[in-house]
Parts: sequence; structure tokens; C-alpha cells
Amino acid sequence: MGTLQGELMYLNNLVVNTTYPGVQQAGTSRSSMSLPRPKSSGLLGSEGSCYESLCEQQPIGRRLFRQFLLDSNSQYAAAAKLLEDFDYWQHMEDEAKEKAKMSVLAKFCQPESRTFLFSHAGDAVEKYASLSISNFDEAAMEHVREATRTFLKGGPFSEYLKSPFFYRFLQWKEYEKQKITRKYFYEFRTLGRGGFGEVCAVQVKHTGQMYACKKLDKRRLKTKGGERLALIEKQILEKANSRFVINLAYAYEDRTHLCLVMDLMSGGDLKFHIYDLGKRGIRMERVVYYVAQITSGILHLHSMDIVYRDMKPENVLLDAKGQCRLSDFGLAVELPKGKKICQKAGTTGYMAPEILRQENYGMSVDWWSVGCSIYEMVAARLPFKDFKEKVQNEEVTRRTLEDDCKFQHSDFDAPVKDLISHFLKKKVQNRLGCRSGDDPRNHVFFKGINFHRLEAGLAEPPWVPKPNVIYAKDVDAFRTASEVEDVKLDSKDERFFKEFSTGAVPVRWQKEMIESGTFDLLNSSELNASCQESACF
Ligand code: ADP
Ligand code: MG
Ligand code: MG
Repeated sequence: MGTLQGELMYLNNLVVNTTYPGVQQAGTSRSSMSLPRPKSSGLLGSEGSCYESLCEQQPIGRRLFRQFLLDSNSQYAAAAKLLEDFDYWQHMEDEAKEKAKMSVLAKFCQPESRTFLFSHAGDAVEKYASLSISNFDEAAMEHVREATRTFLKGGPFSEYLKSPFFYRFLQWKEYEKQKITRKYFYEFRTLGRGGFGEVCAVQVKHTGQMYACKKLDKRRLKTKGGERLALIEKQILEKANSRFVINLAYAYEDRTHLCLVMDLMSGGDLKFHIYDLGKRGIRMERVVYYVAQITSGILHLHSMDIVYRDMKPENVLLDAKGQCRLSDFGLAVELPKGKKICQKAGTTGYMAPEILRQENYGMSVDWWSVGCSIYEMVAARLPFKDFKEKVQNEEVTRRTLEDDCKFQHSDFDAPVKDLISHFLKKKVQNRLGCRSGDDPRNHVFFKGINFHRLEAGLAEPPWVPKPNVIYAKDVDAFRTASEVEDVKLDSKDERFFKEFSTGAVPVRWQKEMIESGTFDLLNSSELNASCQESACF
């Protein structure tokens, strides 16, 4: 079953108990849409106009650049195909990898490719061309790829900027800037409740795309001083670009709420999976897979100098396919390179010794929390706190600082014990993930995981959520929001809300346009029109 189909079924389940009559099939109003004219053609705003952003990172930009190359001449087309095959090759396994490699080699030996490769990689190309297939390794491939990109960044890129394909891109960028209001979505049932409001399922009316919408009550934010935190959370969601971190698709406001629209995670959070689905704990095959994804997600955050500070199973959400993502960045902070912070933050039972001792700390605290979370997935309790144990925070602190971690549960096997022990080293300099040059992904615990494939979304999940089950507590559990005292919102608040409400997030929005078929639909019907328009631009 396709994911969209699964999600529709899931949502049809959700709408029981709501006034909404049922989930819509995608795109009822799509046929009447057309792309706007770009207002000022050269300006692309803060994203800049560099090759990487325009032709590689932004999905629609990438598509259009590729179409331009294929449409231009055989040399440009060869370059486009070479890059495509390279991506394919990088993520394949064994036999498929060999096949892909042959195909790359064949393309790279074509005269069209040889001309540009020779001028950009020089003698190296001659050397590679004479290598036998078995010697043509990843380093050689990388070299050829870089030479191809260097070629594309020059003449072809400048020509692209003057072509109808780029004009089309500017039209999409103009469309992307549309103002987003609540009318843009259908709204469904509550999925969960957080500190500043509820999270509910929504669907974009004209594409059918499903999302989760976290609604933050403006007055509640103001009374509890949450405005700054909301902005940090939004900025981090917006910046992260990993399949293991929740993506933000839209940020907008209505009269009463700030809204963060993000990936819908219909498989529930890992805490629910540990405690609320029959036998407690999660079986090892799933633990390995989830921890591999969590580790990749944490490494991604750290690569952007972000400390998560709230790593725990409750904040790891599963999507409809059974892949997980980190969510809830209300406690995360960005630390300037090499800088440390000294501020108590986190959840009892998951906080690292250096936080509890109120020392300066950095990324190390996340690896400690990963250790606690793995322990919990296996044993359905924390290393220093039993499930639902009534215990003072001071005692948990004492145990964390002084006690050894014990592995009494029979489901702990040798590799998982070893991994946890290395994450739960009390001294930062001994902890896995914190010692210079060590990478947790190399631990034997992950021997069955191919991280390349995992990161490309090609590793099959060991377990898939059932589309007819809602993996969350009952709706009634969410119905107890406390009243907000009457606060007045002033012009400073309004300015802040405006700043927050930036509308569509480019990469995610462009993916939505492609995945929903809107891109193909509008592109084919408008290509000729735009070619004519661009003649005078
Ligand atoms: P808070 O920061 O206030 O704790 P969260 O971001 O954790 O808020 O969201 C509250 C709850 O809403 C979560 O525990 C989860 O059950 C649900 N939720 C949050 N984000 C999503 C999502 N993207 N998809 C599905 N459910 C979600
Ligand atoms: Mg939360
Ligand atoms: Mg939060």
C-alpha cells in the first residue's frame, strides 16, 4: 500500500469524533491553478543565487536545471546523466552496485563526457579511463563527480540563468512566497498536547499533503515567556535537513495561534511503543534500526552545532513507514563552534552527569541521553530510575553521579550492553561520541546497518505501523487545557508574530509540489507560455 493511501486511511480513522465529514482525495482545486509572474527576476532573497542552492539543494531547482541540461546539447546531457548515475551507484549494494558502476564507467568514457572531464580533471581522467573496472573505486568516482560539477558550475550554469527553465524556477519561487493562512488547510483531530497548545493533523487543500500542525497559543506564549523558545524551535526545525529530524513545511499565524506545520508522524512516539503496546520494551532488531536513525539524526544536529538536550524515546516519532525522526526542539540550543554552556536543561532520568554537576557542557550530553534511551527501549525502565518509580530528583541525580549502570533485564545482549556502557561513561572524555575522531556508527552494535543506504532512505524498516491503528493515547486525554489568564498582546508581540510567520519552507514545500504531482501538472501545461514570456525578460 502506498504511503498516501495509508495516511488517508489513518486520517479517516482520526476523523471519527470530529465534525469534519471525511478526508479529501488530493487536489480538487488544482486544475484552476497557474503560476504567477516573478516580480523581480534577479532577486532570490536570503537563499542566494549560488549553484548549490539553486541546482542541487532546492528540489524544484534541481529538476529544472536537469531538464535544462537534457534539453541543451549532448555534452550537457551527458553530465546530467553522469551525476545521476553517481548518486545511484553510491547507494546501491553488491550486485546492483557493480552494475551501476559499469553504467557510470560507460558514460564517463563517452566522447561527450571525455571532453569536459578532460579539461576539468586533466590527466586524472586519462588515468581513470585506463583503470580496470575493479580498480575504479570510490575515490576515483568522487574525482570524476567533482570534475563534472565544476564543469556544470561554469558555462552551463550561466546559460541556465538566462534560460526559460530558470524563468520557470522564478515563477515557482514567487508562488512559494504566497501568504499562508488557516484556510490553506483542512484540520483534523488532536494528536497530542504540548506545553503551549495542541498538535493536530492537517491536510493541504490543493495538494492533499498531510501534515501535523503544532499550535502555540499566543497569549500562553506571552504569559509563560515562551516566545523566544518558540522562535528557537522554529529556526532549528527550519534549518535541519535530514530524514531523521522532523521537517518544517510552513510557519504561519492566525488570530490566536502561531502554527508550525511539520511532517505527520502517524506511527506514534517510541515511549508509546515501549510501554503501551502489550509486552513492554522493543525487540532488538527494531532497537538497532531506531538507534541507527537516532544516531544519524543527532550527528546531523551536532554538525550544525546544535545540542538537542531533550533526547528521550517520547521525542522520537515514527512515520507511516516505520522510520523515525527526532522532534520537539523546545530545549535545543545552537552553540558557536567550540563554545560550551552551563544551564540545567533536560528531563529527569536522561540528564548527563556534567549537567547535574552544573559544569560547562556541549554535545556530550546528547550521547548520554542516547545511552539512557537505548536502555529504556530494551528494559522498559531507565538506568537510574525505575518505570513510574516515585523518587526525588536528588536521588536520581545521586544515582546518576555515583552508581554503576546494571543490566538485569534478560533482553540485553553483549553488543547492546557494550554500546550503552560506552554512552554512559560518566567522564565526558571517555564517552562514545565525545572522544576525538570516534564515530558511534562504527560500533559493532550497528554491524547489520549500511548507513549509506539508511541515509538515502533505502533501508527497509523492520516494522511497519498498521494503517488502521492510532498509536497515541485516547483523544480525551488531551482535553484538559488550563485557562490562560487575560493578557494583552501589544505591537511588539505583533511584530514578533509577523517575524515568526514566514510561510512555506522552500525545500519541504518544493518536495510537496513534486510528490503531489502539482509540479508536473503545472510545468507541462505552462512550459510554452513561460518560454514566450521569458523572451522579454
Ligand atoms: P511540547 O514541546 O509542548 O512537548 P511536542 O512537540 O512534544 O510539544 O508535541 C506534543 C505532542 O504532540 C507529542 O508528544 C506528540 O504526541 C504529538 N506530536 C508532536 N509532533 C507530532 C508530529 N509531527 N506528528 C504526530 N504527532 C506529533
Ligand atoms: Mg514534547
Ligand atoms: Mg517542547
